[in-house]
Amino acid sequence: MIKVCKFGGTSMADGTNMLRIKRILESDEDRRYVVVSAPGKRFSGDIKVTDLLYQTLEEVLEGGHVGSSYQKIADRFRGIVHELGLKMDIDALLSEVQNGIETVRTADYAASRGEYLAGRIMAELLKIPFIEASEVIKFGTDGRLNGATTYALLRAALRGVKRAVIAGFYGADAEGNVKTFSRGGSDVSGAIVARAVGADIYENWTDVSGFLACDPRIVANPAGIRSLSYKELRELSYMGANVLHSESIFPVREADIPILIKNTFRPEDEGTVILPTQKCRPSALPVTGIAGKKNFTVIFLEKSLMNAEIGFALRVLEILFRHGISFEHIPSGIDTMSFVIDSAELAHGVLQEVCKEIEEVVSPDRMNVFSDVALIAVVGHGMSRNVGISARLFSAIARTGVNVRMIDQGSSELNIIVGVDNANYERTVRAVYEEFFREN
Ligand code: ADP
Ligand code: ASP
Ligand code: MG
Repeated sequence: MIKVCKFGGTSMADGTNMLRIKRILESDEDRRYVVVSAPGKRFSGDIKVTDLLYQTLEEVLEGGHVGSSYQKIADRFRGIVHELGLKMDIDALLSEVQNGIETVRTADYAASRGEYLAGRIMAELLKIPFIEASEVIKFGTDGRLNGATTYALLRAALRGVKRAVIAGFYGADAEGNVKTFSRGGSDVSGAIVARAVGADIYENWTDVSGFLACDPRIVANPAGIRSLSYKELRELSYMGANVLHSESIFPVREADIPILIKNTFRPEDEGTVILPTQKCRPSALPVTGIAGKKNFTVIFLEKSLMNAEIGFALRVLEILFRHGISFEHIPSGIDTMSFVIDSAELAHGVLQEVCKEIEEVVSPDRMNVFSDVALIAVVGHGMSRNVGISARLFSAIARTGVNVRMIDQGSSELNIIVGVDNANYERTVRAVYEEFFREN
């Protein structure tokens, strides 16, 4: 049996927590390959090492060399090594990293050094080899993972290696330049390693006891989810349940490797298992979970006989395409169509330009733009088996007096997405949670 274990930022935050990791690994000899994040927050208000590294690069670009942010990073790593009583030359490593950041001068390289240093320390603590991620995780010229090369390189590097540490979050492009995944990407690295070695399970160790039905920062003590399908996970994580990176399912799903989310601070808790849909125990509740994100813009268009105007949507999409804008949803009616877009994509005057072009190209009778919209996704395979779920959802929202700006029911019947004003986001999530979880 092979288990690949990824430990997140809180689990790696200090020496005491790293010792917890050591105990977790020693309690099960199947836990052979370890993927680590950079040290995260130790307390609220603390700064993650990754954020300090991005600041370090800013300082280098401004002043030519590292500044106070790098001091903080160095102090943290020295403190960890001291706390663990390790006899490693951390100062030499810190100088090597400083030199690298000052010469390479890319955000990806700088940010990757948190995982690099954390991985080196973890390998020393566990007394097992450290595998350099940039030599085994490769991106193609399109910026996406080159799966075939990566899996072959990882397999070759780990062949005959009983246990090893691999730094999360980064790999290298075809020219060998360090490149990171998007934020939270160590989850993806863990999934890639699990796939490469044909793991029996991918254990993702974090600071909560599994996937919860709702963001615990919005609803206090939400119900835990015992099992989740890959599809439900994808919907929930994409829509903001950031306990797991939304792209981490792809490598493991292809090989049917279950993901187990566990709590480093309560290893005895059962956690959440993520499986293919057909292997999931049908949930007793119609809704499995709720997630959401703020800051979307809805461009609403109305035009009589839009239904008969062939190419209407295509022409609007062409405008978005030309501006390099990706959209989230396009709910439509007979004579109406809305384009829901992440507001960040429309910043710096792009929204105004896009609206002007829409006006010129498709001449809508009416165009309304709602900015500051939050999307809330209600997700669950059980929804398709239960009638009246949307009625319950919308009356729950209506009872709180919140105006719904947009509705989109995914064609898979796996989710319903509603848009509300940013200001009403938390209130709506709580109302929806109450409706589907408290009364059952
Ligand atoms: P790690 O550093 O271990 O990768 P993250 O901070 O990325 O951890 O993810 C864990 C956090 O995700 C939790 O502390 C919690 O605040 C947040 N979170 C948001 N939505 C959910 C959810 N539905 N279930 C569990 N945690 C959630
Ligand atoms: N350290 C990186 C981040 O903060 C990656 C990760 O933690 O997964 O985003
Ligand atoms: Mg994470």
